[in-house]
Amino acid sequence: MQRSGRIGEKVHLIAVTKTVEVDRINQALELGLKNIGENRVQELVKKYDIIGNRANYHMIGHLQTNKVRNIIDKVCLIHSLDRLSLAKELNKRAKKQDLIMDVLIQVNVAEEESKYGLKVDEVIPFLEKILKYDNIKVKGLMTIAPFVKDPEEIRWVFRDLRKLSEVISSKGYEGVKMEFLSMGMTNDYEIAIEEGSNMIRIGTGLFGKRN
Ligand SMILES: *Cc1c(COP(=O)(O)O)cnc(C)c1O
Repeated sequence: MQRSGRIGEKVHLIAVTKTVEVDRINQALELGLKNIGENRVQELVKKYDIIGNRANYHMIGHLQTNKVRNIIDKVCLIHSLDRLSLAKELNKRAKKQDLIMDVLIQVNVAEEESKYGLKVDEVIPFLEKILKYDNIKVKGLMTIAPFVKDPEEIRWVFRDLRKLSEVISSKGYEGVKMEFLSMGMTNDYEIAIEEGSNMIRIGTGLFGKRN
């Protein structure tokens, strides 16, 4: 943390448990991990049914609108809000359950064809459109950087996301606090932290290679 000049600030670790069996997740929970990330609704629900509230669940993958109702009361944070129809559905389902759903807006900083997320320029107009949804609360931004051998090449991705979060903060939207920057995975978390990440999503680095 010293290198980033943010000594003492907390970085939240999300243990990405996709494809990891419940036994091994239980071991991780016993060791003190609390936050787990899944990218598929079906898998998340299945694990939730067994593990229950011993973990906090993060939805980190693309979320289909018709599956929102299956997870709305199970997850603490959705990292992948990327379109209006999803915001609308999340708001509706959260209202029905009488809860506030915390979300991060997913940004496709590098504009990769294969990835979901808004372009950097689209984020503020999008945010302004969803401010009216009282049952979702925007807590920050998330990005998945391109996979490269040398993560130095993608430092700019993390930097751009942090800059965007600062611009949003400076606008002072009511009810919006840029609390979390969810960026950094096994291959690139060190650089992500140097550039301001306070939430890293680590799978293989904790559990080894996925099948
Ligand atoms: C799988 C996944 C991760 C974890 O990736 P690793 O390289 O295994 O650390 C992080 N974020 C998202 C959105 C993922 O789908």
